[in-house]
Amino acid sequence: MISLENLSKFYRVDGREIPALKRIDLNIAAGEIFGVIGHSGAGKSTLIRLINLLERPTGGRVLIDDVDLTELTSDQLRKSRQKIGMIFQHFNLLMSKTVAQNVAFPLQVAGELDKAAIATRVAELLDLVGLTDHANKYPAQLSGGQKQRVGIARALANNPKLLLCDEATSALDPQTTASVLQLLLEINQKLKLTIVLITHEMNVIRSICDRVAVIDGGEIVETGPVTQVFLHPQHPTTRRFVYESEHIDESDEADDFAHVPGKIVRLTYKGEATYQSHLSALAREYEIDFSILAGRIERIKDTPCGQLTLGLTGLNTKAMLARLADEGIVIEELRA
Ligand code: ADP
Ligand code: MG
Repeated sequence: MISLENLSKFYRVDGREIPALKRIDLNIAAGEIFGVIGHSGAGKSTLIRLINLLERPTGGRVLIDDVDLTELTSDQLRKSRQKIGMIFQHFNLLMSKTVAQNVAFPLQVAGELDKAAIATRVAELLDLVGLTDHANKYPAQLSGGQKQRVGIARALANNPKLLLCDEATSALDPQTTASVLQLLLEINQKLKLTIVLITHEMNVIRSICDRVAVIDGGEIVETGPVTQVFLHPQHPTTRRFVYESEHIDESDEADDFAHVPGKIVRLTYKGEATYQSHLSALAREYEIDFSILAGRIERIKDTPCGQLTLGLTGLNTKAMLARLADEGIVIEELRA
């Protein structure tokens, strides 16, 4: 649905061209929740603002449903932007208008509905985001989570097919973050809405995204399904994000394991295998002893996953590991 081709963006600062994005190639499918994660200054906001051409690229193309936005007239661009909703970290609400008036605003600008139809649509949207009882309040009277719900209702007013979220939960506490993410997931499923979400928090990616791109210094350094990236991060920046969010200290491992006898392996489970007893059954069958050195079991979006670091002793470790691999468990040898 979205195709970014060889995109670049330079900002002119004091007569010098500063690169913010370099050679970005990205494809996002209709209906998915696609996350982009990166540290502050990595180029996330620039990237998401290129998708609706709030920023013009210095080079490359932005295709949405095969239409190159960079070639549209300003009138055509305005029309296609109405099909792209956006929400922001600081909500960007009109403070002197009520909740209902904020949500009605983009409908009035679009100019396609009469007053009564706008009122009906606003009521529908407030119901969708759970704010029916707050229609006549002003933003200052709302909590952060409620403000973002207004932002979401407003972004959905013109029935967009795409929702862009720029750090939409970064100003919220963890519990409110979870409820707003849940709402985004619901909307994604109910309305078949494609969502592109940028964040610096791995937890946001893990709870609702299908795929993720990691951006660093204006370049995409890694991209893949969230389970893949979480369980087998490749790039140092990705590893740092994952280890930080999982509270894993990578440098600890080698020291701690110096005293452990035998072979050291890491097993990665995904899906059904997470709940099965292959390990104990095969250890018994092959007369292997194992000690558990580190481990975690978690849910990545709706997929159960687990990772176990084991010390193995016995004569048949190789054969046992081969059988585990047959069960779809990924084996990495950390020490032979
Ligand atoms: P992020 O959202 O990941 O924090 P941004 O996309 O906002 O990063 O910024 C990427 C880089 O581009 C930063 O170095 C930032 O200083 C620079 N930048 C962003 N917007 C502008 C601008 N309007 N003018 C000049 N430099 C900018
Ligand atoms: Mg930003």
